[in-house]
Amino acid sequence: MTEVNQLNKSELEEQLEQLKKKYESYKEKELALDMSRGKPCPEQVDLSRPMLDLVTSEDLLKTDSGVDVRNYGGLDGLAEAKEFFAPILGVAPAEVIIGGNSSLTMMHDTIARAMLFGVVDSEKPWSKLEKVKFICPSPGYDRHFAICELFGIEMITVDLLEDGPDMDKVEELVKEDATIKGIWCVPKYSNPMGNTFSDEIVNRLAKMETKANDFRIFWDNAYAIHHLTLVHDKLKNIYDACVEAGNENRVFLFASTSKVTFPGAGVAAMAASPDNVTKIKSELSIQTIGPDKMNQLRHVRFFEKEGSLEEHMKKHAELIKPKFDKTIELFEKFLGGKGIATWLSPVGGYFISIDTLDGCAKEVVALAKEAGVTLTGAGATYPYGKDPYDSNIRIAPTFPSLDELEVAIEIFCLCVEIVSIEKKLAA
Ligand code: PMP
Repeated sequence: MTEVNQLNKSELEEQLEQLKKKYESYKEKELALDMSRGKPCPEQVDLSRPMLDLVTSEDLLKTDSGVDVRNYGGLDGLAEAKEFFAPILGVAPAEVIIGGNSSLTMMHDTIARAMLFGVVDSEKPWSKLEKVKFICPSPGYDRHFAICELFGIEMITVDLLEDGPDMDKVEELVKEDATIKGIWCVPKYSNPMGNTFSDEIVNRLAKMETKANDFRIFWDNAYAIHHLTLVHDKLKNIYDACVEAGNENRVFLFASTSKVTFPGAGVAAMAASPDNVTKIKSELSIQTIGPDKMNQLRHVRFFEKEGSLEEHMKKHAELIKPKFDKTIELFEKFLGGKGIATWLSPVGGYFISIDTLDGCAKEVVALAKEAGVTLTGAGATYPYGKDPYDSNIRIAPTFPSLDELEVAIEIFCLCVEIVSIEKKLAA
C-alpha cells in the first residue's frame, strides 16, 4: 500500500477520480445504514428472551430469602441482585445500590444530588459554588458530557491515551484547582476507544492529591464483562486502590445489564464507600420507595438458569466478534498503510474508534451520510461536541447485520480516502 504522502499531484487526482466514481455508484443504491449508536443487534437481545418467562402469574413471586417482589420496599435492591452486581463492580454486596433500568440515570442523579446537596466531605452543595469543573478524558462518552452541560459543569478535555487518561495532566490540574470536582472514566473497553486503563493509571487516580476534598471519580464500568475474546483485558480494582490510599470516598462506580440482557429494560447498579452509600440512600429514600424488584428477580433467576454470566456473555461475543473482525479487516484492506487513519483493535466493549488525519472527521461523516451511512456525529466524542483535532470518529459495529456492516464500512473507508486526498490536494 502506498502512503498518500508519497503520491504526486496527478497520481492523487487520478485516485480521487476513481474513488469518486465508486462513491457515486454506492450513492445510487440509496442505502440506509445506521451505525450511530452502540445497540445490540436483534439476535443479541433474543439471547435474553427466556428471561421473560421467569416471572409469571403462576409463580411464587418471592425471592429465596422470602421477599415478596410484588410489594413496596427494598430501597437499595434485592439481596440477590446486590450479590450479582458486587463482583461486577468489585465491591462487597453492602456497598451496592440497585437502581432502575439505567446506569446513566444513576449517574445523572448522582450529579444532580451533588449539585443540590453536595457529597460526603462537601462544604456546600456544588451548585452553591461559583464554578464546578469536571475532567473529561476524550475521546469519551457523549452522554457524560451532556450531563455536565445540563448542570452547567465546565468540562476540561484531557487526552485519553492507550493506557488511560493523560495522568500527568490530570494530576497537575486537580492538585491546583479546588473547583475541579470530578472526572468521568469508562475504564474498561472504553466508549469509544475500546481500551482499558492500566494498573498504574488506576493507582494514580486513587492516590492523586486533589485540592477539592470532595473530588469524585465517576467510574462508569459499562463494559466490565463485555469481552470479545478469551483473553480479557484486566482492570485493577479502583475501590480497593482508593481504600488503600485512604481515599475510600473518592469513587462512585456504575454498571448495568443494558448490554447483557435488554437495553432499556435491564437492571442498573452503583457502588461506593459505606459513608457514601449511607448518604445516597438517605436522599434516595425521599425520591422512591424502591426500584423494580420484579425485574431484579427476573434477572437473578435468569442467570441462575443460564449457569453463569460468563457463559451468557460468550454468546454475545460469538454474535458480535465477527462484526468487529470484519470492521478491522476492512480498515486494514482499504486504509492500512496509507497513512490516513489510525485505530485500535479492542478485545471488548461496543466500539471501534478511528482517527482520520486532522481536520477530516466532520467531512467524512457528512459524506458517508450522503451515501446513506449514518455514523455518530463527528465531535460527539469530545466535550461540547468539539473535537479539537476534528479527527475522531466512533464506529458502532454491533447493530447492523454482517452484510450491512460490510457495505457500510466500505463506504466509510471510501469517504476517509476521498476526504484525505482532497485535503492533501488542497494543502
Ligand atoms: N455508559 C456507557 C459508557 C455507555 O456506553 C452506555 C450505553 N451507550 C451507558 C453508560 C448507558 O448505560 P445504561 O443503559 O445503563 O443507562
